[in-house]
Amino acid sequence: MKNNPLDTVKEIYRLYDAQLKTADMACRKYCADCCTTNVTMTRLEGLLITDVVSEKQISDRLSKKACDALPRYQPRLSTNTYIERCRSGEDPDDDQPGAKSGICPFLESGACTIYPVRPFGCRCMISKIKCSQNGYAEIDEVTLTINTVFLQFIEHIDQKGFSGNMIDVLTFLSAKPDDISPDDISNDYRIISNRPIPVLMVPPDQQREMQDIITSLARLTERL
Ligand code: SF4
Ligand code: SF4
Repeated sequence: MKNNPLDTVKEIYRLYDAQLKTADMACRKYCADCCTTNVTMTRLEGLLITDVVSEKQISDRLSKKACDALPRYQPRLSTNTYIERCRSGEDPDDDQPGAKSGICPFLESGACTIYPVRPFGCRCMISKIKCSQNGYAEIDEVTLTINTVFLQFIEHIDQKGFSGNMIDVLTFLSAKPDDISPDDISNDYRIISNRPIPVLMVPPDQQREMQDIITSLARLTERL
């Protein structure tokens, strides 16, 4: 029997949260310097949000006029496309020098208003040191690899869908709620096609350490 893709996204989030239980993190509630307009996500992650958060709440937060003016990172390549290009020796060319950011529209009084369904891009933003005191986040190499592998699987299970900045994906979903197909992908909304995993980005010296996580992710996603 096939799994519901939205349930699988939730399972992947739970698996990641379990990984973080033992992580060395300075992240706490109301610590929100990382809550910017630069969060990206997939179509399925957006559908999980629209499944739980009311249309009114989303439209209040994302009035198109206000959001059009918000500076934000708008990726030109998905994670798996970027990796595929690197693997084939092409220049991935996804640089956006000087991409600015604003405060995430879902942040209120220092807390996330959609916390239970926030996308993976928010969940994986962690740091061993307080960003506000240091001006940057610190994350170890293995956690970076874990984050990349989770991003790859989250895109893989939505390979007929799309990705983009969270604001653009939600705006697109609100504008085109029915029959979303790759043909609907529009430059107006700055969203990009997803791709299957070309190869998992795990350095040779981390492969043993990553094996259990990869096996768990593969099990969760095989019945879609
Ligand atoms: S990543 Fe930085 S700003 Fe975000 S919660 Fe963690 S310590 Fe705070
Ligand atoms: S969605 Fe929530 S957790 Fe993510 S950046 Fe916005 S306020 Fe922060």
